[in-house]
Amino acid sequence: MTTLDISSSVEKTPLERYVPPDKPSLVGLTRAQLGALLGAVGVPEAQRKMRVQQLWHWIYFRGLRSFDDMTSVSKELRAELAQSFTLDRPEVVAEQISVDGTRKWLLRLPGETQGERPHEVECVYIPDTDRGTLCVSSQVGCTLTCSFCHTGTQRFVRNLTADEIVGQVMMARDRLGDWPGATRPTDGVIPTGDRCVSNIVMMGMGEPLYNLDAVRDALLIVADGDGIAISKRRITLSTSGVVPNIERAGAEIGCMLAVSLHAVRDNLRNELVPLNRKYPIHELLEACRNYPGVSNAKRITFEYVMLKGVNDSVEDAKALVRLLKGIPAKINLIPFNPWPGSKYECSDWEQIEKFSQVVFDAGYASPVRTPRGRDILAACGQLKSATQKLSARERMALRAMAMTD
Ligand code: SAH
Ligand code: SF4
Repeated sequence: MTTLDISSSVEKTPLERYVPPDKPSLVGLTRAQLGALLGAVGVPEAQRKMRVQQLWHWIYFRGLRSFDDMTSVSKELRAELAQSFTLDRPEVVAEQISVDGTRKWLLRLPGETQGERPHEVECVYIPDTDRGTLCVSSQVGCTLTCSFCHTGTQRFVRNLTADEIVGQVMMARDRLGDWPGATRPTDGVIPTGDRCVSNIVMMGMGEPLYNLDAVRDALLIVADGDGIAISKRRITLSTSGVVPNIERAGAEIGCMLAVSLHAVRDNLRNELVPLNRKYPIHELLEACRNYPGVSNAKRITFEYVMLKGVNDSVEDAKALVRLLKGIPAKINLIPFNPWPGSKYECSDWEQIEKFSQVVFDAGYASPVRTPRGRDILAACGQLKSATQKLSARERMALRAMAMTD
């Protein structure tokens, strides 16, 4: 990849033209919620389980967007459902495709109160030769203020609902023709294999562990074997370190965990990730040691953004290795992606190599050495001049690419 040269294929429409949906969508409902809803439209208790199973299949396995096509459901029930509900996903108001195949969608979501302006979040798709990773948002904005993160400079607006989180996955599969029998796009990059979206990373906008209930409900739907069926091993939740919710994420979701560590000393981490003042490094690592299901086969990924002259010394690398001793871990070194007004620079390539060598010598696969990692490092230097063109989500996309290696 050289630059993120973006070509737009869907033009953004003005915010004023947004019309919030007048009926709720069934997309994002759990089995229990679908059952309750069928009860409310008069489906007898004895039939409900079977009907839920049918709806589940049509919604989450086949990806239908119209009740009319649900051939195993009676005409009466289809009509009844269509009267009160839709199968809508969040509205896509812009789609951009980069020369490297990365796709970015801007989604518009209703405000919480009537008359409030709509909200916007982005969702990014990063194709690789044999996999495709979707970077999903959990909040509009973020309550935390990590000093190197663009989202951190934005005001927190609201949590996304479970249906808005599942809706991002459904929308991406719509756009990529990733449903049985659907047609794949001919532009951009599409991985080989039978799935376009094979991996999910909760690394878009927001802190997923501050919206745990919705994120849990959404990810359990995404992982359900009768529907979208993306294995929990291919779903990674990234947290800046909300210690009290780490155990719950493991127990209630059981997905892979990534921790945004970024520093090996509390005084520096307090500055980079201010949440560290509340949950310092030793508490965070203790929660990682106790993460349900953690093992050498299911390692925790530690994300470490490379900030020139800040956290990138060989001493830091040695301290990092010491710190993680005994924790089944992977280390992802992330080139810092600068943004307008950011006070950091990405570490020099030689320094990243030195840092990664220490990590590598300690027995960790050294992700920046992979071809994609090299690409990203190359991009990191090259992108400096093009920073203005990069949105927060595109930077996240670069991050997520490093993550999926
Ligand atoms: N809030 C969660 C998940 C979203 S951020 C978290 O912080 O983990 C996803 C990842 O992108 C985090 O590891 C974050 O530290 C990293 N990140 C944020 N801004 C970045 C930047 N400018 N360059 C590189 N990585 C960045
Ligand atoms: Fe929020 Fe994560 Fe950005 Fe920190 S890095 S401000 S937690 S999105």
